[in-house]
Amino acid sequence: MAQRVLIIGASVGGATAASTLRAAGIETILLERELVKPKPCGGAVPPAAFREFNIPQSLIDCKVKNCLIVSPSNQQTHVPVAGTVPTADDYVAMVRREVFDHWLRDRAVAQGAELIHGTLADLTITDHGVDATYRDPQGTPHCLHADVIIGADGAYSTTAKLLGLPPTQRAVAIQERIMLPPDKMARWADTADLYLGHRVSPDFYGWAFPKLDHIAVGIGAGPGHTQAARQLLTNMKARLGDALDGGVLKLREAHALPMEPRKQMVLDRAMLIGDAAGLVVHTSGEGIYWAMKSGQMAAEVLATCLDAPTARNLRAYPQRWWRTYGTMYKFLSWLEWWGYGNERQMEVFTEMCRNRDVQRLTFDSYMHKQMAPAPWLSQLRMTGDILVSEARNYLFPRRAPAL
Ligand SMILES: Cc1cc2nc3c(=O)[nH]c(=O)nc-3n(C[C@H](O)[C@H](O)[C@H](O)COP(=O)(O)OP(=O)(O)OC[C@H]3O[C@@H](n4cnc5c(N)ncnc54)[C@H](O)[C@@H]3O)c2cc1C
Repeated sequence: MAQRVLIIGASVGGATAASTLRAAGIETILLERELVKPKPCGGAVPPAAFREFNIPQSLIDCKVKNCLIVSPSNQQTHVPVAGTVPTADDYVAMVRREVFDHWLRDRAVAQGAELIHGTLADLTITDHGVDATYRDPQGTPHCLHADVIIGADGAYSTTAKLLGLPPTQRAVAIQERIMLPPDKMARWADTADLYLGHRVSPDFYGWAFPKLDHIAVGIGAGPGHTQAARQLLTNMKARLGDALDGGVLKLREAHALPMEPRKQMVLDRAMLIGDAAGLVVHTSGEGIYWAMKSGQMAAEVLATCLDAPTARNLRAYPQRWWRTYGTMYKFLSWLEWWGYGNERQMEVFTEMCRNRDVQRLTFDSYMHKQMAPAPWLSQLRMTGDILVSEARNYLFPRRAPAL
């Protein structure tokens, strides 16, 4: 009998894993509990995702070519979105998840994956395979048997819970979709805003991202600040001031973000990818590309050992992951700690974004997922600018104005 893989969650990570498995001719089931409502998300996607996963540009609402970074004291830095060697492929794509996710899911189904509408409720792993119970939308339980399960079910992963893995720390991100009159939308024609400061986001940043017919305004709040998320979003809108005048609220949405990668990403006959594995980059809160990439990588490893899917064999997936991206994750975690640690550092961070070398390194790693080498002269310039900025903000601290 053909071997089957059961994937829980048919969002970006699950759909990409399914496409990769189908391309290898492996029977694949996608179990998804929500087929209509979009995943709450800012929808910023790097061009690398479109290139590497063969996704049509027609899914992009707009291509952001400029980034406005605003410090707690309202210092502004305008950053052109361009890498070390500027190309037409330098942009941040803005997508709506209801469009993006559906396309990925439909592609997986067209490639032969079976999509089932239901919620995973129970799971048993034996020497012979995986026995899963799911409830359909009417609440009726059904059983499924597979050889391996992939948990692509997000930050609250039921799969991880049923596998007996401990919960991980989570942040919360909340956003509103606001429809604006055309003259107000023009302000964001090709620009995305990032706002820093404890009153909008003590741990991350607030954002205003342009979409086809609205602006998505949101904030992220770390574990100690989740209760204040609504107030932080109100503060974020206050900082945008009259830019939102005449706006009509279309949707308010919120969801959790994992705060750390899971130590255990594989068990016998089981793998975790994307948010379920905790693979979000914290400086940017970026998880779409990483969910897709981990889905692809996990599926590629699984295709080589489907006859013996032991934890030992599946471990090639986390090993390959951390070999490829470990340095970048460590650097970006350090950057979050350094740049968002307190409001003085947020001022320094905003000033540092004026440095051309910093801009290029940041966008190379975001857009193309490469840690571009920094020549010694660039390093020297960056270090000099950091020291001057640190000293200036220490000696002459800036104050956040009243909201
Ligand atoms: C407000 C907000 C803004 C964000 N902005 C950005 C951004 O701009 N750019 C970016 O890159 N990332 C962003 N992220 C992060 C990004 O949304 C996630 O990292 C990404 O969606 C993870 O993809 P995934 O496939 O791992 O999981 P998810 O997209 O969370 O999908 C999990 C899927 O599993 C399904 N599921 C869950 N439980 C079950 C179950 N028991 N049975 C069946 N199905 C189940 C869910 O319905 C869902 O479809 C944001 C997150 C939030 C909350």
